[in-house]
Amino acid sequence: MSEERTELSDLGEFGLIDRLAEMLAPAQESTVKGIGDDAAVIDGGDHYGLLSTDMLVEGVHFDLSYVPLQHLGYKSIAVNVSDIAAMNGKPTQVVVSIALSNRFSVEAIEVLYAGMKAACADFNVDIVGGDTTASRSGLVISVSVYGTVNKDKIAYRSGAGINDILCVTGDLGGAFIGLQVLEREKQTFLGNPDMQPQLDNYEYIVQRQLKPRARMDLIHELSELGIVPTAMIDISDGLASEVLHLSKASNVGFSIYEEQFPIDRQTYETAVEFNLDPITSTLNGGEDYELLFTIKQEDHSKLEKHADIHFIGHSQVMDKGNLLVTKKGNQVALKAQGWNHLNGETGQMN
Ligand code: ADP
Ligand code: MG
Repeated sequence: MSEERTELSDLGEFGLIDRLAEMLAPAQESTVKGIGDDAAVIDGGDHYGLLSTDMLVEGVHFDLSYVPLQHLGYKSIAVNVSDIAAMNGKPTQVVVSIALSNRFSVEAIEVLYAGMKAACADFNVDIVGGDTTASRSGLVISVSVYGTVNKDKIAYRSGAGINDILCVTGDLGGAFIGLQVLEREKQTFLGNPDMQPQLDNYEYIVQRQLKPRARMDLIHELSELGIVPTAMIDISDGLASEVLHLSKASNVGFSIYEEQFPIDRQTYETAVEFNLDPITSTLNGGEDYELLFTIKQEDHSKLEKHADIHFIGHSQVMDKGNLLVTKKGNQVALKAQGWNHLNGETGQMN
C-alpha cells in the first residue's frame, strides 16, 4: 500500500488547522474552547482564562533590513494582545521564546526586549518567562499570552445572530500598503546603497506595518458603554478572510459595503501610487490588527457617534451567502484570497 501524501499547499493554512483540530478534540473538563477562536478558553471558576500564541519568523514575517528590532519586539507582544482583545478579554502575562544566532549581539537582543517592554507597559502585561535557544536560520520569536474575561462578557467568533451590525475599528489596508513602501525602499537601497530611504510621506502607513497597536482601548470603551459584541475577531489576515471566519463560526452570512470601509487617506493615495486597488488591499492585505465585531441592532445608538468604530455591514441568513456590495451597488460573492495569493511564492502562513 502506498503511503498517502497530501501537499500543504493543497490544504492551505486553514485547511491544515481544521484537519489538526479533528485529531485534537479536548478531553479536559476545564477546556471550554480549544482550536478555532482567537484564543483558547479555559474555565477558571468565576472567570475564563484565555490563552493564545503567535510566532514571528525572520524572512517570513519580518525582514531585518528594514524592521528595527525595537519595533519587532513591540509588534510581537501587540499581535498576541490583539488575540486576547478579540475575545473581549484583558491580557495579563506573556512568555517569550527566542531562537537566535550569534549574528546578534547582547545589545541587539536588549533592544528587541526594550520594544517588548514598551508594549507590555502600553497593554499592562508582564513578561513572566520564556525560552532561549540557538537558531541556524534567522531569528524566531514566539510569544504566548494569558488573559482573563468575565464569563458573561466573552466574545467568540461564533455568536453573531441574524441582522446584527458588523463593525470595524480604526482604518484598514494601511499595514499592507506600508509594507509595499518598505519593500520598495529596500529594493532602491539594494540598487544603490548611497540612497537614503524616503519615508517622509508614508509615516502613518509605515507605522501601521512596523508598530501595530492592539485595540485594548476599545475593549475598555465597549465595557464602559455596556456593550458585549455578539461575535468578534481581530484582523490579522485581511477583512475578507476575517468576515468569512465569523460567517463560518456563527453560521450566518454577511453583506459588507465598500462605501463604508474605513481607509485612511495616506493608505488610499499610496495604494493608487503603487497601482493597487485600495479596496482590494483592504479586503486582502493583512496585519492591521483592528477588531471586527458584531453588535445587536439595539446597541447601535451607543456607538453611532464613535469616531473610531465604523459600521460596514450586517449579518443575514447563511443562504444569502457572504456578499460584497460595491460602490456602484453591485453584489459580488466575498472571497478570501488568503495566504497563497498574497504571499505568492513564499507561501507565507500568518
Ligand atoms: P489568529 O490569526 O487569531 O492568531 P490562527 O488563524 O493563527 O488565529 O489560528 C486559528 C486557530 O487555530 C486558533 O484557535 C489557533 O490556536 C489554532 N491553531 C493554529 N495553528 C495551530 C497548530 N499548529 N496546532 C494547533 N492549533 C493551531
Ligand atoms: Mg486573531
